[in-house]
Amino acid sequence: MKEIFICITAMFFIEYVGAQEVPQIDWVGLQKTKPWSATEKWRPIPGKVVPGIYSSAPSDAIILFDGSDLSEWRKPRYDYGARMDQVEAIIKLKSQDLDNDQRTDPKWEVKDGTMIVTPGGGAIETAKAFGSIQLHIEFLCPVDPGKEDQAYSNSGVFLMGLYEIQVLNSYENQTYPNGQAGAFYKQHIPLVNASRPPGEWQSYDIIFNAPKFENGEVVRPASATVLHNGVLIQNNVLLEGPCIFIGKPYYVEHPEKMPLLLQDHGDKVRFRNIWIREL
Ligand code: MG
Repeated sequence: MKEIFICITAMFFIEYVGAQEVPQIDWVGLQKTKPWSATEKWRPIPGKVVPGIYSSAPSDAIILFDGSDLSEWRKPRYDYGARMDQVEAIIKLKSQDLDNDQRTDPKWEVKDGTMIVTPGGGAIETAKAFGSIQLHIEFLCPVDPGKEDQAYSNSGVFLMGLYEIQVLNSYENQTYPNGQAGAFYKQHIPLVNASRPPGEWQSYDIIFNAPKFENGEVVRPASATVLHNGVLIQNNVLLEGPCIFIGKPYYVEHPEKMPLLLQDHGDKVRFRNIWIREL
């Protein structure tokens, strides 16, 4: 009975619409009541920024590296964890260190407007801590035909020092896809391989939403969107926890803001033009 009723109603509706012209709007008559204004949203007004030319920094960005010095960077006392037990310990220690900054000067080299990993010099991290961000960073994987797999120009952009976008030469260099350039290391394979050959400059544009915690539990996991050389490679992916080398990740409560870290993986990867916007 009910189905028959719906069917008849639908038929009537189709016939009615089919029989009529598109309804006309009396624009002159509506000038008195202006019903369109009910759906206009006037607040908040987005702040005005002057966009950069190509990938140069927009007016409201924090410049992390403009080619001159490492004044925005420190050498962390604790780098990053390879396993969750390490991550847990590092989060604990880093949380304390953010208050009484015992970090030291970074060991990386600044040359020709770029900063270069000093193999064995350790990671570097930003002096300032960040939560949700938009980040632009350019990198160059040096040419080294003797290297392959994970050993060919490996570094990494660790958001909050915990969530790694892999930096690697992935131009005709095979490795496990969830560890290639643009992967959220061991969590998300990039949608495409947009890598340029080693020796050429490349870019990541990253939009990252920091995780939210309540009473020690994650209530909103971290999420991110990434463009590699202007190509979408990570589309609003959810992270399972920190990116680690061994084992399965899980969330551990950490401060709302933590420094951005760049990895020393033993290769002389170069970086330049690094800027960030807090979200
Ligand atoms: Mg790496």
